[in-house]
Amino acid sequence: MPVPLLDLKAQHATIRDEVVAAMMKVVDAQTFILGDAVANLERQVAELSHTKHAIGCANGTDAILLAMRALDIGRGDEVITTPFTFFATAGTIHNVGATPVFVDIEPKTYNIRPDAAAAARTSKTKAVIPVDLFGQMSPVEEVALAMPGLPVIEDAAQSIGARRSIDGEWRMAGEVPTIGTFSFFPSKNLGGYGDGGMITTQDDRIAERLKRLRVHGGAKMYFHDEVGYNSRLDALQAAVLSAKLPHLAAWSAKRRENAAYYNMAFAKLAENDAITTPFVSPENESIFNQYTLRVADGKRDALQAFLKERGIGTSIYYPLPLHLQPCFAYLGYKQGQMPESERAAKEVLSLPIFPELTRQQLDEVVSGVQAFFAK
Ligand SMILES: *Cc1c(COP(=O)(O)O)cnc(C)c1O
Repeated sequence: MPVPLLDLKAQHATIRDEVVAAMMKVVDAQTFILGDAVANLERQVAELSHTKHAIGCANGTDAILLAMRALDIGRGDEVITTPFTFFATAGTIHNVGATPVFVDIEPKTYNIRPDAAAAARTSKTKAVIPVDLFGQMSPVEEVALAMPGLPVIEDAAQSIGARRSIDGEWRMAGEVPTIGTFSFFPSKNLGGYGDGGMITTQDDRIAERLKRLRVHGGAKMYFHDEVGYNSRLDALQAAVLSAKLPHLAAWSAKRRENAAYYNMAFAKLAENDAITTPFVSPENESIFNQYTLRVADGKRDALQAFLKERGIGTSIYYPLPLHLQPCFAYLGYKQGQMPESERAAKEVLSLPIFPELTRQQLDEVVSGVQAFFAK
């Protein structure tokens, strides 16, 4: 029985009626641009994230780009982030005209090291972008503390609904920093039926600015205070997402259950250091956007090929850290400069973790991994 990395059809089958009804409401109203559907989702996401504002936009990439524009970041500025993330985190820094400054990750969580970020700060640094990788929040409060006065943009594209205990209180992804950004790309934990994104903030002025920037920089139609973008969240996507959002907590719980099942099944292999199962820091509750193993001794690619042979889908997030991407050669980074990011790129392998996995499918993955190491 094949086990795909992600089975969106399985999820759709459980919510088809709700989602189709929500979409048809928009179709019948013929209000496709912003309107009630988008405003509703913005309210829901603000409530989930404990923020005063949530502003829909076209995708998670634009969410980061708009966040930087709202903070007046541009040419001559530096923005600090890690090279072990999806391309958009750094691509947007380049695209606003600023310079990406990479700092290495903490190897257990794959998230930013606050001390490394602080050490990279210069007079040109205008923001830091911690990424909540694989569904687990980065230490946003430690980053803020290590870099006083610096705006923090939390790239929470993979972590909507994740939370972290800070000073004894649960803080949601997107709640603490200056600006939080989400993606509704179909494979994210809350995925639309197409592209979508959202930006959260507690700051009224940043929220106003973001609302303007997403409609070509003019609060009033045809009058432009600044040059913005066409980056709205599509009303049809908002309707889909509003229908899906009430299920998110249960889906995340199911992902955690699946992760716990794997952790148990792989305990022996982990003990023998053949693999390392995902580490969730004790402050965090992860939503497991990915369940990512580390595979030792250069066996990662062989394990992936072996599982593929058995019909088990896996993926490598991410095979080449951003500081070594050809497009960033102009930044002058060299191999060996970000050892933990480079090692992670060689060792990680993400297994199927989606909530609709059956016990039989989980066992198929488990026996596949075990069979590889029993060879
Ligand atoms: C998916 C993702 C993005 C970009 O989101 P899109 O909606 O695909 O534009 C940005 N950062 C991270 C970490 C992501 O995983």
